[in-house]
Amino acid sequence: MTMIFQETPRQEQKTATATMRALVFRGPHQIGIERVRIPKAGPGEAVIRVTLTTICGTDLHILRGEYAVKPGLIIGHEPVGIIHELGVGVMGYKIGERVLAGAITPCGQCNYCLGGDWSQCGGAIGGWKFGNTINGAQAEYLLVPNAQANLAKIPDDLCDEQVVLLADIASTGISAAESADLQIGDTVAIFAQGPIGLCATAGARLKGAGLIIAVESDAVRAQMAKRMGADYILNFKETDVISEIKRLTDGKGVDVAIEALGTQGTFESALCALRAGGTLSSLGVYAGKLSVPLEPFAAGLGDHKIVTTLCPGGKERMRRLMELVRHGRLDLTPLLTHTFSLDDITEAYKLFGERREGVIKVAIKP
Ligand SMILES: [Zn+2]
Ligand SMILES: [Zn+2]
Repeated sequence: MTMIFQETPRQEQKTATATMRALVFRGPHQIGIERVRIPKAGPGEAVIRVTLTTICGTDLHILRGEYAVKPGLIIGHEPVGIIHELGVGVMGYKIGERVLAGAITPCGQCNYCLGGDWSQCGGAIGGWKFGNTINGAQAEYLLVPNAQANLAKIPDDLCDEQVVLLADIASTGISAAESADLQIGDTVAIFAQGPIGLCATAGARLKGAGLIIAVESDAVRAQMAKRMGADYILNFKETDVISEIKRLTDGKGVDVAIEALGTQGTFESALCALRAGGTLSSLGVYAGKLSVPLEPFAAGLGDHKIVTTLCPGGKERMRRLMELVRHGRLDLTPLLTHTFSLDDITEAYKLFGERREGVIKVAIKP
């Protein structure tokens, strides 16, 4: 006689109700908290109980109808939580463990992933699933696809607030210096000090930049840029940024220029600030049309490199970022300027969208 053992999904103790609160997108300018079903983990998947999340600039684009997602979708893509249910085949994890999942959740198995292009899992921008092509993190519970590749255990000595920004903006911001292959002692200029630009500044310092110049007009953000590692802050409303950058680099221009806003103007300025043979590392999300001005591009003969990066995700990326926090090399908690409960998330969207009260990032507690 043969005994067949069928593996069944493991689950946290039964919740009183099978529904949860979640922020549902119904159409441009229509979002609200609704009661929806708690997801179930299928093979290879996990469900986490979200303990902390945040709102991203991309969520604002979705809310304003500038980036289309399907109505009925739960949005948000920056989850910290506790494992609630493990689907069949997810090994090495226990119910109740604290985990961080990246905004980008690569499958780890397709040709793109195995070729090293994790963020482009399955095709263009395919790694971005949460709050884009599947339900997202601004909810009490979240289904994590390909859990084996995406659940990063949080060390006991780190609290939720210390890791939540690693899911997206820190991974994205720091990637600017990595993608540019920034060398020790390089001069760097970073255009815009929003949440991602601030993380790009921190990343330039971590990668060993010699001189870091941040471009920002907002006083609160300029102050934070100093804290993240900028040596000089140039206010484009008061200074001719390009000539000042040239002056600070003995007339040459910077080795690496990071674009962290996504406009034609900042892209052009980044190119103008670059030395011959330098690298423009672009993080911004552009709309409409982007064109390359020929003079700073040396008509195509300047040996410039232009690189772009979508947020790197997956559990190994999250583990590495957590190591930086854990050993005191990166502290992003000052960027979490406000805290809201999930029930008040629409208030948080307003504050964040209108950039009131010196807000940089908001912590959302389900
Ligand atoms: Zn984001
Ligand atoms: Zn993949």
